[in-house]
Amino acid sequence: MTRVPYLAGWGRSGTTIIDNVLGSHPGVFTTGELWFLWERGLLGGRSCGCGEPVRSCPLWREVLRRAYGSNVPDPRLVKRWQRETARARHTMRVLRHGHPLVSVFSKLYAAVAEVTGATTIVDSSKLPSGAAVLARQQAGVTPYLLHVVRDPRAVAHSWQRPKRQLDRSAPAMPVRHIRAGSAPARLRCAPTRPGGTTCPPPPAWRPPP
Ligand SMILES: [Zn+2]
Repeated sequence: MTRVPYLAGWGRSGTTIIDNVLGSHPGVFTTGELWFLWERGLLGGRSCGCGEPVRSCPLWREVLRRAYGSNVPDPRLVKRWQRETARARHTMRVLRHGHPLVSVFSKLYAAVAEVTGATTIVDSSKLPSGAAVLARQQAGVTPYLLHVVRDPRAVAHSWQRPKRQLDRSAPAMPVRHIRAGSAPARLRCAPTRPGGTTCPPPPAWRPPP
């Protein structure tokens, strides 16, 4: 029986710290955001925590081989399925009726446990749809849900700052989250007295690097 604690919550809520703490325990393997293995790892060419691109990382290659043999699901199809279920309003539908992603992740969790020898796999994917997929897992997996909630002021403050990316030369800029009307934008230009400061015009939007 493999235990899978799933860290749910908003980005910049401190899930990485919890992930690291849990991962330091013997018998625990942390996958990071396993939900994005397909989009970021296999399609996007992003790197594993070991520094190797996911596609050439020995661990993930072995996990994929054991999970699917020569029939690794098309990452574009998995990405499409994930887009279909990403909205929170679709979470209940996945819980009630299942989804092809359940089988995809069932094999993946089993293979991670087999390759790493871990009895507990921490998945910090954060999305509700990923938690729903995990909840539908059959025998062999015991799901746990950890909903991480951080003071929203700290979350908003964190989103104002670029986050260092280990596999990218430029840090990720949360430009889409500082548009006018967003919480960080409002905090940034909060008036110190009634009628005092007015918000500057929002920065021009540009796509993330
Ligand atoms: Zn690796």
